[in-house]
Amino acid sequence: MQIIDNYNFAGKKAIVRVDFNVPLDKETLAVTDDTRIRGALPTIKKIISDGGSAILMSHLGRPKEGPEEKFSLKHIISTLSGHLGVDVKFVNDCISEEAIATKKALNPGEVLVLENLRFYKQENKDKQGMKDFAAKLAEGADVYVNDAFGTAHRAHASTAIIAEFFSEENKMFGFLINNELKSMDKVIKSTDKPKTAIMGGAKVSDKIQIISRLLPSIDNLVIGGGMTYTFIKAQGGQIGNSLCENDKLDLALDIIKKAKENNVKVYIPTDAVNADKFDAEANTDLSKTNETPDGWMGLDIGEDTIKTFSEVIASSKVVLWNGPMGVFEMDKFSKGTSAVAKALAKATSNGAFTLIGGGDSVAAINKNKLANDVSYVSTGGGAMLEYMEGKELPGIKAIRNQ
Ligand code: AMP
Repeated sequence: MQIIDNYNFAGKKAIVRVDFNVPLDKETLAVTDDTRIRGALPTIKKIISDGGSAILMSHLGRPKEGPEEKFSLKHIISTLSGHLGVDVKFVNDCISEEAIATKKALNPGEVLVLENLRFYKQENKDKQGMKDFAAKLAEGADVYVNDAFGTAHRAHASTAIIAEFFSEENKMFGFLINNELKSMDKVIKSTDKPKTAIMGGAKVSDKIQIISRLLPSIDNLVIGGGMTYTFIKAQGGQIGNSLCENDKLDLALDIIKKAKENNVKVYIPTDAVNADKFDAEANTDLSKTNETPDGWMGLDIGEDTIKTFSEVIASSKVVLWNGPMGVFEMDKFSKGTSAVAKALAKATSNGAFTLIGGGDSVAAINKNKLANDVSYVSTGGGAMLEYMEGKELPGIKAIRNQ
C-alpha cells in the first residue's frame, strides 16, 4: 500500500477526496465552523509543497435534485485560500468538459476545488452511473488520495469506486485518514490497562455491536445517556418516563453477563437529574436511577455517578468515548457530559490515550474547549463506529486491500 509520507507529488496532479461538508451561515453562506477544512490542510500542503497540484472534491449538505446555490462549494473558497495562502481556483461543476480542462491545465502548486459532488446522483445514489462518473472524476489526475474519513463508510463514486482507476502505487490515504486509523487501531490493540469504553447517547441498539467487539479487550464499560434506563429496567428498576428500548431489555442483560464473563466492570449510573418534561425549562429533581418517580424522566447523570465515572476515567490508560451522558444540548442536563469531558482531559494529562468519536461527544468536547486536551477527536461519527465494530469500510478497503 502506498504511504503519503513517502510519495513525491512533484509534477503530479492529485485528485483528493476531502470532507468540506462544513456548516454555513444561513444568511451569508459563510463558513461558521472550519474544523473540517483545517483537517484537510496537511495533505493539501504536502501535495503543493512537493510541487504537485491538488484537485479537491467533496460533498456539501444534502442537495436533492441537482445544483442548489446554498450547497455550492464556492462558499468555502475564501476560507481555504486564507488557510493555504494560495489563491484557490474553483470550477462550477465536477465532471463537465470545462472541469476536466481546468484540471488538466493546473500548474504545480495550484489548488482547484470542484463543485459539490452530490449535485450528481451518480456520486451516491445512482449505482449504475457511478463508474462512468468516477472515471470522469479521475480524468486528468495522476494520483488519488482519500482524506475524507467522515464518508469512508460509504461506497460512493468519489470515496471508493474512483480508486479502481489508479494503480496501487498511485492511490493512498491522506494524513487525516491515516491519523484516524492510527488512533482507532491504538484503542483496539493497546494492551495498556485499565482500558475504558464510555458509551452514551440515546439508544443501546446503536452501540451494541461496538460494545460486543470491545468487551474482550476492555477493563471498564461505562454506560450513560438515555441507554442507561434500558439497563436499569432490565434489572428491575423503576424508570418513570425515561427513555427505554423495551425490546432490548434481554440484550442489556446479555451485555452485563458477557461483561462478567470477560472480567469487565460495568458502571451504570446510580443517580440522575430528572425532568418533568423533555424541555430546557423543565422542572428538575434528583433521584436514584432505579427509583425514578412516575411522571419524571432521567436526563443527566447525578453527582454520585459523576464522581464514580470521573475517578474511573481519570485513572484509565486508554479511553474511548462515544455518546453524551445526558441531554447536553440543554444546559440543565449538560453537567454530566462536561464532567466526563474534563475527566478525559485529566486522564490525558496523566498519560492516557483518549479517543473521542461521534458527533455529539465531539460537540461536547468542543463546547468545553477541551479538544486540544485529549489525544484524538475523530472527524467521522458513523465511520468511526463502523470501523470500531470491525466492519470493512468501502473507502478504506478500496485503498488498503489492493
Ligand atoms: P446518539 O446519537 O445515540 O449518540 O445520541 C445522542 C443524543 O442522545 C443526544 O441528542 C442527547 O440529547 C440524547 N440523550 C442523552 N441522554 C439522554 C437521556 N437521558 N434521555 C434522552 N435523550 C438523551
